[in-house]
Amino acid sequence: FDDRDGTVWLDGAFVPWREARLHVLSHGLHYGGAVFEGVRVYGGRPFKSVEHAERLRASARELNFALPYTAAELDAVTREIVSREGITDGYVRPVAWRGAEQISVSGAGNSVHVAVAAWEWPHVFADGAQERGIRLKTSRWRRPSPDTAPVRAKAASLYAIGTLARDEAEAAGFDDALLLDHRGRLAEATGANLFLVIDGELHTPVPDGFLDGITRQTVIALAGELGLTVRVRGIDPAELALADEVFLTGTAYEVQPVRTVDDRAFTVGKTTLRLAEAYGELVRRTD
Ligand code: PMP
Repeated sequence: FDDRDGTVWLDGAFVPWREARLHVLSHGLHYGGAVFEGVRVYGGRPFKSVEHAERLRASARELNFALPYTAAELDAVTREIVSREGITDGYVRPVAWRGAEQISVSGAGNSVHVAVAAWEWPHVFADGAQERGIRLKTSRWRRPSPDTAPVRAKAASLYAIGTLARDEAEAAGFDDALLLDHRGRLAEATGANLFLVIDGELHTPVPDGFLDGITRQTVIALAGELGLTVRVRGIDPAELALADEVFLTGTAYEVQPVRTVDDRAFTVGKTTLRLAEAYGELVRRTD
């Protein structure tokens, strides 16, 4: 993805896409001193860009480093890069990492770098995935407990687990992995939160070991507006047997219906579709 035309914002300057580089001895590469965001662009407008900028700053704080930009400044950069690149329906990737002043697990002696890139990206999964639903494989990899990893942060290091789970699922012919938490309860997919529809009510796991997604919070609010009951609770994997519908939420996934988890099938049903439609309307609203 590095060999293309365009501009990336890097440490306060706009640089040609191919020249947006960091040093090979960066702490972010060796020791996982890095956090990032994903922001979706609809009709040229980044959705909830300030919330994502605030989360980027909060993620860095969880890893004990401070970003040298306010959320308002990061929001302004996001809007600028989207407009410069002429993105209509796309994605923005802000990322921050510790630099290469020293080679040490210790992080404090390193500078902090920030970059923002954006590209056109209308759909995450293949055409038809929204209508048909995707297929998940329960992973043998689990989300770590909150006393083992900075689970509230969108920390690059945590994605090592997601990559293992996702690669394993894809190699077995699935679209994505479903991860359990350290207690063996349902947690999330590799880049999205999980909802079950049981008897017309939404059930979603307590986000105490994974990201409390911005889309998750948005969908919970939309469900309230639609008069749906939302139950946030610990959910055992066996309860999938009770679910009529299952869906994922995420900035990139949006409201993504799930067709199967392992060999259990679900319908792409009316509750999921109502929420997907309400979310689609909200993100494209111009007022
Ligand atoms: N969990 C993980 C692991 C993710 O990467 C994401 C995407 N950021 C989410 C959940 C959903 O978060 P959001 O709705 O804020 O995109």
